[in-house]
Amino acid sequence: MFGLIGHLTSLEHAQAVAKELGYPEYADQGLDFWCSAPPQIVDEITVTSITGQKIQGRYVESCFLPEMLATRRIKAATRKILNAMAHAQKSGLKITALGGFSSIIFENFKLEQQFQQIRNIKLEFERFTTGNTHTAYIICRQVEQASQKLGIELSKATVAICGATGDIGSAVCRWLDKCTDVAEMLLIARDGERLLALQEELGRGKILSLEEALPQADIVVWVASMPKGVEIDASKLKQPCLLIDGGYPKNMATKLQHPGVYVLNGGIVEHSLDIEWKIMSIVNMDAPARQLFACFAESMLLEFEKLYTNFSWGRNQITVEKMELIGQMSVKHGFRPLLSFSS
Ligand code: NDP
Repeated sequence: MFGLIGHLTSLEHAQAVAKELGYPEYADQGLDFWCSAPPQIVDEITVTSITGQKIQGRYVESCFLPEMLATRRIKAATRKILNAMAHAQKSGLKITALGGFSSIIFENFKLEQQFQQIRNIKLEFERFTTGNTHTAYIICRQVEQASQKLGIELSKATVAICGATGDIGSAVCRWLDKCTDVAEMLLIARDGERLLALQEELGRGKILSLEEALPQADIVVWVASMPKGVEIDASKLKQPCLLIDGGYPKNMATKLQHPGVYVLNGGIVEHSLDIEWKIMSIVNMDAPARQLFACFAESMLLEFEKLYTNFSWGRNQITVEKMELIGQMSVKHGFRPLLSFSS
């Protein structure tokens, strides 16, 4: 059985969902209450592959909220993730994806080194995967396929990657460098040293601020770990411009409706068959029976293939070969990148 550890995008979102799911005692509570709430299994899942194989899984709500990071409640944030992992392991889940901020917190606060034992449970890290290899693969396929749809030629295109030094961002850069003939890459993040290291690894790419990069880009890939999205002035963008927002919560605060600007939900896959679950309607997917985060799909793929291993682990180690491998499994079991633009 596979697992998914997820969280909601804001306190307001969490309160609304608690009411909807029948937890009225959570619905009127503030951030402090959510800091002390235990993880919950709130969904049972059945997925059928196009090969006919059927698997079962569970969704574990960690009760983490991005406001915990914004208000520096770091201890609460790390406790949420570790408790959710212990809960998943105790429930017998063999391979569990760490969705959204779960893996970012786990890696950035180096929890593997500090917390191997949660009460009477010794965490077995090989039971978890960040899901980032599949996410990076799907975002790259979205770049390739959506640009073609819009008539943007990659060989003439400038692609800006916001969050380029991150786990997903660096994998996207590697793929664009090795597997496409993209003309130019603009690398955006805050830490200058890590940007220089990435530029050296790639042997290419211009380091620019977001403000400098946006007007030059034909395609923008958003994969920054921002607890809250940034405002974008669409009139400063090229036309056409393809914006692929892979952040959770979204990196872009505004819903853009501007001629020539095309927004795609990044790192989202569509399954060929309906999935039996309710969790994706809670996170407002357009087609909740079929659409899901690529990181969640990674744990499903590992369960289908009985690969009980932390396929994606650590930071900035995702190779093009591993992206190709998870990509083959993705196609085999009936997943494809989302290609319909947001309206
Ligand atoms: P990482 O923490 O590994 O990387 C984050 C990157 O964003 C770093 O390059 C960081 O560099 C940069 N960054 C953070 N804040 C800013 C900022 N204000 N301005 C510019 N750059 C910034 O994160 P991941 O690669 O694991 O995840 C990236 C995003 O993808 C997250 O939003 C995550 O929730 C989402 N995600 C989506 C999935 C899906 O299935 N669709 C699956 C997993 C993750 P620096 O700190 O130097 O600025």
